[in-house]
Amino acid sequence: MKYLECKSCGASLVIDPSGTNAHCPYCRSRYVLDHSDTDYYRDFYERMRGFFGLSKDGQDRRIRAEELWSSADESVFECSDGRRIDVKSLYKYQDRDAEVYTARQNVIIRFTPENAANADKFRRAVSSLDYPSADTKSLSDFFPTIGGGFKLSDGSALLAVKKSEDEYPLRLFGVLGARHAAWIVSRLENLCCVLEYNSLAHPSLGLDDIYIDPYDHTASLYGGWQSVVRNNTSVGGKVCTTRDNLIALRTIAAQVLGFEDAATVRATDDLPEPFAAFLSGVPESNAYDDFARWDDVLMKSFGERRFMTMDTDDEHIYGKR
Ligand SMILES: [Zn+2]
Repeated sequence: MKYLECKSCGASLVIDPSGTNAHCPYCRSRYVLDHSDTDYYRDFYERMRGFFGLSKDGQDRRIRAEELWSSADESVFECSDGRRIDVKSLYKYQDRDAEVYTARQNVIIRFTPENAANADKFRRAVSSLDYPSADTKSLSDFFPTIGGGFKLSDGSALLAVKKSEDEYPLRLFGVLGARHAAWIVSRLENLCCVLEYNSLAHPSLGLDDIYIDPYDHTASLYGGWQSVVRNNTSVGGKVCTTRDNLIALRTIAAQVLGFEDAATVRATDDLPEPFAAFLSGVPESNAYDDFARWDDVLMKSFGERRFMTMDTDDEHIYGKR
């Protein structure tokens, strides 16, 4: 995926899921993309969404994945002990304290020298995670496992977080329809329940922290653990609570649907009223109740849940639109 640079500070721009706007994560400058860039990103997102219709074991998937990875950028990192680390990445996201690379089997996070201590904060937050006993195996798959940590020669700290080959940053799929957004909300509610269980608030939780597997319809929370705090911790004068996780969930879902934020979500031909109201409304006081309400909203929005592949439209599943 090609990168656009901020004209003010040179950082890589974050492209809006619609492919029409971009913003700078450093200086917060906003840009309207020109037509050729908009066409490029829309085409890229379209190709990513093409994975939704493919079977995990199919040859099509393997061919398309190879094609995708053949366009990957290479970065070389020099460790303080002289070793070199080569990283092939599909996508690079630049946040205020780190650059985040999507490699094939890892998410590589490079904390800038002045924020190198955040690598330890990230590790501590992740290692403190506990899971409800019945679900230990499956749930832990959707949270970071640290594959390695390195001190680089320029003083920055590099962390490798394991991921499956089929997991991609949610942002790379652009705008998705309501049914796609619905399974993502279900998975995010699940992730928020684990945060709730651990009494953890993720103050910076956003679209770039989430990775999805388009074949298995799973979502993982790999990003931003350096800013995770205990419930009711004051951060920069604001008390962060687990309920903030549920507000962030709504913002992420709104952006996936192509809205600027949760407050602007409105029902459309594609987005049923109960779903829209759930996103634009206030969350329950905790993730367990919020997930229970979401289940109800899901039923009211789409009727009884049925298995669907992403390319199947309503006509095929329900016999009518
Ligand atoms: Zn900038």
